[in-house]
Amino acid sequence: MILMEAKFYISKDEGKVQCILCPHNCILKEGQTGICKVRTNIGAKLISENYGKISGFHFDPIEKKPLYHFYPGKEILSIGSVGCNLHCRFCQNHEIAQTGLHNYGYLRNLSAGAIVNAALRHENNIGIAYTYNEPLVFYEFMRDTALNAKQNGLKNVMVTNGFINPEPLQSLLSFIDAFSVDLKAFTDEFYKKITSSRLEPVKETLIRIKKSDRLLELTNLIIPTLNDDEKKFKEMVLWIKNELGKDTVLHLSRYYPMYKMHIEATSPKTLLRLYEIASQELDYVYIGNLPTVKGQNTYCPECRHQVIERNGYYTKITGLDKQGNCINCGKAIIENI
Ligand code: SF4
Repeated sequence: MILMEAKFYISKDEGKVQCILCPHNCILKEGQTGICKVRTNIGAKLISENYGKISGFHFDPIEKKPLYHFYPGKEILSIGSVGCNLHCRFCQNHEIAQTGLHNYGYLRNLSAGAIVNAALRHENNIGIAYTYNEPLVFYEFMRDTALNAKQNGLKNVMVTNGFINPEPLQSLLSFIDAFSVDLKAFTDEFYKKITSSRLEPVKETLIRIKKSDRLLELTNLIIPTLNDDEKKFKEMVLWIKNELGKDTVLHLSRYYPMYKMHIEATSPKTLLRLYEIASQELDYVYIGNLPTVKGQNTYCPECRHQVIERNGYYTKITGLDKQGNCINCGKAIIENI
């Protein structure tokens, strides 16, 4: 087993360490593991136990991350490990995210170089996405892979809950090109009760990413009775518009019962209603996990010309020039094409 020392921690008295990677800031005695189940105090050092331990390795459409405004129609090598710093009751990937290294038997040992080589060999592939479980909790392996990928001309994408401290986030911004962040709700009560975390650090993360000029897309999983209140939803949409910009991409995703959450799946009617509310304020709103006519394609916010057609993971650029501008009115829409 590689004992990879973690990057963000402080040594304390009596052999304790404090991890400062995420706002849980776990203080760990010898042998103790953090809330994420994968960072452990071994010999008064914080060790990233899941370094190079891969649970998932697939070439996915970039739209699956979901990212709709980053190299549309391309594929991306997607990798994940185990562990997560949140404990969402509706976790869609709980087999890998809500477990530690010792309870999951299907991990492959891979080096950063092997992953980058696989990404380079695959046609139509633009880079590497760190996803499936929360990539923040395999920070060191993500960093080593992403730096190697960047040197080889590949793009790096992080699919994250955004519950990270400012210093490690600042460091990430130098090698991650695009972020797909879950904004799970807009109340601290939801974050505390349903995810065992807090809303405010996630909002701070979103503002910092936006200021960095990295591509940012948001996903809001709509769960009946828990975060589908129209007034609160509108408040979230207005916050996105005012703090992150009207052109921020928002994906509204349909929830299905999963893990410890047994509420019925979101009704199409609710999703369409929230889609209408969000579309009044934001330029690019999409519906995910539900085959609808609305909320799939991209339209130019200036002239309403259809610029990208989507059907499931079928994607066709219909109205953009080579620079990503609308062919009808010239508005810049997709920077990375
Ligand atoms: S990354 Fe893990 S060990 Fe570190 S503070 Fe967060 S939950 Fe605790």
